[in-house]
Parts: sequence; C-alpha cells; structure tokens
Amino acid sequence: MKALVKDSPAVGFVLKDVPVPTIRDDEVLIRVRRAGVCGTDVHIHEWDDWARGRCKPPFTVGHEFAGEVSSVGSLVTDVKVGDRVTAEGHIVCGRCHLCRTGNGHVCPNTKIIGVDRDGCFAEFIAMPATNVWHLDDDVSYEIGGIHDPMGNAFHTALHGTELPGATVLVTGCGPIGIFAVGICRAAGASRIIASDVNPKRLELARAMGAHDAVHPKDAEAAVKAATDGLGVDIVLEMSGVPAAVHQAFALVRVGGRVQILGIPAKPMELDLAREIIFKGITVYGVVGRRMYETWIQMTQFLRSGQFDPKPVITHRFPLEEHAEAIRAIKSGEAGKVVFEISN
Ligand code: NAD
Ligand code: ZN
Repeated sequence: MKALVKDSPAVGFVLKDVPVPTIRDDEVLIRVRRAGVCGTDVHIHEWDDWARGRCKPPFTVGHEFAGEVSSVGSLVTDVKVGDRVTAEGHIVCGRCHLCRTGNGHVCPNTKIIGVDRDGCFAEFIAMPATNVWHLDDDVSYEIGGIHDPMGNAFHTALHGTELPGATVLVTGCGPIGIFAVGICRAAGASRIIASDVNPKRLELARAMGAHDAVHPKDAEAAVKAATDGLGVDIVLEMSGVPAAVHQAFALVRVGGRVQILGIPAKPMELDLAREIIFKGITVYGVVGRRMYETWIQMTQFLRSGQFDPKPVITHRFPLEEHAEAIRAIKSGEAGKVVFEISN
C-alpha cells in the first residue's frame, strides 16, 4: 500500500510502498478515506528537538483519520467489516491507576499513532478495536477525519466549564481555537472574544461565531467592554505563545477559569501569586480527549446540528501533494488541512 513515511532521522517525509499492516486478534484494519494534517506532523516533518527526542523512524505518520473497516480480529465483537469509523489515536494501557480511575487521557503508557507507532497517512491502518469510534451516517469521512483536533477543542471548551451565558476569551485561532469558538457558541456562551495575530484566522473565527475577533493588542479593550471591566468567566488558551498565556491570566475575571491547551515551545516564567493564586482562579491542563466523555459530547453536538465544523476545513490534498500540505500549515493561513486518501 501507499504510505507517507518518516523514513530516516532527517527533515522530510517519503511517499512509498509498504506492506499492509497485519492486525492482532483485538484489532481492526481500516481503509483510510480522509486524514487531517496537524502541527504535530509538521514537527515530525521538520525533525525538531521534540520529534528527535520522541520518534523512532521509520514509521508511517498521521494521527487524525476516518475510514471504513476492512477486516476485524477474531476477538472483536462490536466492530464489523464495512463500519464507517474514526478512532481515538491515543492508545492507552487500560491497566494503570489513571486508566482505572477514568483518566485514560493522561495514561503514562500512552502510545500515539503516527508518533509512537504506524499512523494513518496510508491506505490502511491497524487500530485496537477499543479505540474505534463509529460515525453517524450523516457525518462525512471528511468531518470524521478531523475528530481528533475537534475533540481537543471539545475537551478544552467543555471540561469543568459552565458555558451557558458565560463570557469567553479564546486566545489563538488555529484550527483548534476556531473549533472551540463554534463549540462555545453552540453551548450558549453569551459573548465570545477570539484573539489572533493573523487576520485570515480572525476571519475564520468570525465565521465560526466569534462576537469579537481581535488582534491581541486589542483583546484587553474588547474584554473590558464586554464584561463591564470585570474580565471573562473563561479563557481557552489555544496558542502556546507566552504573551497569550500571560494575557489569559490577566483577562480572566477573579475566580474564573483558564483552560490551557496550547503548548509553549520552551519553559516559561509565571508570577504565580499575581497571575493565579490571588486571582483565585482554576487552571486546567488539557491533554488530548477524555476517553470517552469527549467523544460522546462531540457526537451529540454534531447530531444537534448546532455545531458545524465544515468552515474550518480550508485545504484538501491528495497524499502525493504532501509537501504542499505541510507548506499550507506552515504558512499560518490555513484552517484545517485534509488528505483525501481514497474514495
Ligand atoms: P496553531 O499553531 O495553528 O494555532 C496557534 C494560533 O495562535 C496561530 O493562529 C497563531 O497566529 C496564534 N497566535 C500567535 N501569537 C498569539 C497571541 N499572542 N495571541 C493570540 N494568538 C496568537 O495550532 P493548533 O493546531 O490550532 O493548536 C493550538 C495549540 O494547541 C498548539 O500550541 C498545539 O501545539 C497545541 N495542542 C495541544 C494539544 C494537547 O493535547 N494539549 C493537542 C493538540 C494541539
Ligand atoms: Zn493506562
């Protein structure tokens, strides 16, 4: 089969022929239809410090996908050949303290497809049946293929927050930030202020329902105007940029909540007393998607018709044009970039 492979410890990917994966008795083989491309794939492509420390080439890249089940192992009972599915790409142990207390999203034994084992930028992928998530008939493979980052946004927006009527600041309008804007809107936030340095991305945030979409230098004024000077109830930090993290703590109201998804490139300094303690705020660190509350919430929101992620997808490429796909993401102008792998 055709697969996009991190072939050697150097910059780049290679599209090549590799054997179709074999499956274990508890796994299923999925024919990949659509696959989302993500910043993580760019890190692996560029072979940066994180990728060097984590990944062991050769392996097939890609972790966001949807497709059709083409065979199932002998122990699999609830997934059938022909099922339309996506999957949770974090494969957890199911046995550790965290997994056994309903916190599998932070399982220390997590293996990620396309990072720690073969991924989905290929005609087929093997997945443990426990990770498979069935798609409703009216959810397209394209939308199925972006459930992973959409799930990051659902997790960040919904876990421990009280969105109905809330005022929200979303710092960073990459694909995940703009999904989050749409989710907050659907969940009944009363005012959503989105910030980004990139006008193209602010446009997407407006399309997804942001009431105000502003450059970070104008975020304070927008928040003050929308909250009688109080600060927002909830901040979703989705940029990983230190200036935005400080702004998140500055613009949340006293007693509010900051959900942090964005990953700073290196350690950063905080004034813990001033920015967190004496504001009496709650800070939540987001890892992946909660298994499987986030998936259930995502499915219900899509079913309700009140949240439509489609405008977030701006670029579609065949696997052969992988270099263009990486370039589109690096440009910072794209929403979600998707590979059309088979029909
Ligand atoms: P992205 O890089 O496309 O989006 C980040 C956005 O932040 C960009 O549009 C950028 O212009 C904007 N930005 C830069 N400076 C800013 C500032 N000062 N204020 C506001 N916005 C600013 O990334 P993405 O794919 O949407 O992912 C968002 C973040 O989440 C990244 O840091 C990514 O690494 C991280 N992430 C975390 C998890 C997790 O499990 N915690 C999972 C996936 C992604
Ligand atoms: Zn575990």
